[in-house]
Amino acid sequence: MRKVEILDLQFQDANETIGAFLVESSEGLILIETGPESTFSMLKHKVAALGYQISDIRHVLLTHIHFDHAGAAWKLAKGGAQIYVHPVGSPHLASPERLWNSASLIYGKENMEKLWGRMEPISQHAITEAAHGESFVFGDVVFTAWHTPGHASHHIAWEFEGGLFAGDVGGVKICGGPVVPPCPPPDIHLEAWAASLGLIRKIAPSRLFLTHFGVVDEVGSHLSELELSIDSWAKWMKNEFDKGATVDDTTPRFMEFTRSQMNILRISEDVQSLYEYANPSWMSVAGLMRYWKLKAQGRL
Ligand SMILES: [Zn+2]
Repeated sequence: MRKVEILDLQFQDANETIGAFLVESSEGLILIETGPESTFSMLKHKVAALGYQISDIRHVLLTHIHFDHAGAAWKLAKGGAQIYVHPVGSPHLASPERLWNSASLIYGKENMEKLWGRMEPISQHAITEAAHGESFVFGDVVFTAWHTPGHASHHIAWEFEGGLFAGDVGGVKICGGPVVPPCPPPDIHLEAWAASLGLIRKIAPSRLFLTHFGVVDEVGSHLSELELSIDSWAKWMKNEFDKGATVDDTTPRFMEFTRSQMNILRISEDVQSLYEYANPSWMSVAGLMRYWKLKAQGRL
């Protein structure tokens, strides 16, 4: 596999929470993930440190349109890059108002700009929708898009020379800590997630690139650990849901639950807080509670 540069975007001044990846091709630079717009100057800085300019980036592959993965895509498009995205995500990049407003409900209007920066529309001709199994040839490199729902309905895992850019469907693993599933509302779908992990096993990459955060070489055991932790979080949340608990009531209990698991594994307080930056507990409570609610209503 040719060299993949990992760019730490130092979200909220923390290391190893949000990453982006850079690959050189005979057709210019390819960026996988952009991070939020709030870390765009850090992205520029990291690209410059490698001896390139941001305008050298010709193609941007997004795993999905959540702000921590795609929030700066519009800036790269303004600079002339082509943006590759799932067909379900594409209209939200062209007119981001709905995406912005629904995220404001989750994060609070007053926190949006500080966390994510700004978002502007991307013109239609700068967006390419990637079909399931579609390959894109950029000079001497090839990327293949695999639709992998479960975390988000608009999720793609990008296969590249035996590696896989796994976005969030491949879980979160920071500084050698445990593998955990990011479960924000509104798209969590456990059956779809399990099927996506089955597909990843079939693709059988030798290496995963996680946006949160870095490289995983033991792919089989990583996926098994993720499956177990999805199962454990989902069952724990089902129990809360069955009791009629609210998101607000459940969040501190869930934080205690995950903290006790981290403590058993002797994960330091510092690393535990990085997990919280990359994958806030309250968001996973909201996402999984919503999943169980829709399930109970027969809407999934
Ligand atoms: Zn996400």
